Amino acid sequence: MAFGYPVSLDLQGRRCVVVGGGTVAEHKVQGLLEAGADVNVIAADPSGALRALANSGDVLLVARPYEPGDLAGAFVVIAATDDRRLNGRVFAEASERGVLCNAVDDVEHCHFAAPAIVRRGDLTIAIGTGGKAPALARRLRVELERQFGEEWGQLIEILAEARARVIGSRDVDFATWAARWQAALGGDLLGKVRAAQLSEAVDEVARVLAEEPAASAGQGHVAIVGAGPGDPELISVRGRRLLDAADVVVYDRLVHPSLWEGKDAIDAGKEPGSHRVDQDQINELLIRLAREGRRVVRLKGGDPFVFGRGAEEADALAAAGVAHEVVPGVTSAVAALAAAGIPVTDRRLASSFAVVTGHCAGGDVDWAALATGVDTLVVLMGLARLPEIVERLVAAGRSPASPAAVVAHGTLPDQAVVVAPLGELPAAVAQARLTAPAVIVVGEVVRRVHSPDAAGVAAAPTPPA
Ligand code: SAH
Repeated sequence: MAFGYPVSLDLQGRRCVVVGGGTVAEHKVQGLLEAGADVNVIAADPSGALRALANSGDVLLVARPYEPGDLAGAFVVIAATDDRRLNGRVFAEASERGVLCNAVDDVEHCHFAAPAIVRRGDLTIAIGTGGKAPALARRLRVELERQFGEEWGQLIEILAEARARVIGSRDVDFATWAARWQAALGGDLLGKVRAAQLSEAVDEVARVLAEEPAASAGQGHVAIVGAGPGDPELISVRGRRLLDAADVVVYDRLVHPSLWEGKDAIDAGKEPGSHRVDQDQINELLIRLAREGRRVVRLKGGDPFVFGRGAEEADALAAAGVAHEVVPGVTSAVAALAAAGIPVTDRRLASSFAVVTGHCAGGDVDWAALATGVDTLVVLMGLARLPEIVERLVAAGRSPASPAAVVAHGTLPDQAVVVAPLGELPAAVAQARLTAPAVIVVGEVVRRVHSPDAAGVAAAPTPPA
């Protein structure tokens, strides 16, 4: 059979027959009951659960093998048996009577496919594979269930309510109406549903449909979102959602392009040293975009508050009275190491870590204290000053034999790792020609990494069982 034409059947009050008495039959019966069907089960050996349903009057149970004639008056039949010959007999009678038949895992004996479904209130997402890969359909269902939470069902109710409110006064042609709907759906309705602001959500949709100016017109919003260390999959779910709903994205240099491509996006990239756009200009840009009423996502590498100047942007927005929020991200300080197999702590090797900037190798950082004061030392923005950093650490008492590494382009396909004792790290890194962005890490935890470049560093101790 070819599964060509998806429909959703109205089974309310219709006689639907399930042949079979096992767990699969139970699932099918459940689905039919949820759809409001009058369910008739035919099974020589029905399960306890099916008997219970019969006892409570929810289904009509005929406890004997299927017999021709059982499909009289049926609308749909589901053969939930593992006996293909039996399925064949059910299918034959169904075909003769014009009853729609589905035999579970038996495509030959089906008039229709029963897709895997995700239900959220009145939202139904059906997944079909033409009967070829039910396992894949189930997997997709789990993924979609995660992606589309219960709020989607509520969203439908909100849209229906808004529609009912304005439909009577609808005075525009279909194309305009359709465009207004798209505009209404473009807002952050799900955000309102999640925040339980249901009547606000209805008002907003009704307003956009009727094309009334917003009471809060011109009030945009800025989300300062951490994009994660490099791999675009490492953004948070909330960050991803805000990004999807954004009118405009202002992104930094290290943010993966796939996160903003296809959106209205502005490059606020700051080349190290060159400062193409200075921080004040970025702050002003964010404020201006928000005041134009736009939903802005300010997308920053890693976590916005880890050497990202996110705090300065948040302060500028607060001072300007612009609504904003900060969405944390996975910082490269931890994730780039992890991607190289280096845990930033490990009870057996390190119970403290510090993340410092190497940008100003002298200046603000107390290298002398850090040299011996923490187990794992992580340096960001330090690649260009690596020799100087190593010198300071060694001078302050960190052993030149300390395990150390540099992880460049962490979590990305071109990730590169160089492992060497601290004293030899600058030469090894120069030889490997690593390029920024890169993190430097010093500490016993580096012993855990097995790398062909691990010159002079002992292999990891075997962990206790
Ligand atoms: N807010 C960012 C850090 C910004 S500072 C975060 O939390 O990750 C920029 C520095 O981060 C770079 O100089 C480099 O040291 C580090 N970095 C960023 N992405 C990196 C990556 N994919 N691999 C290694 N280091 C990275």
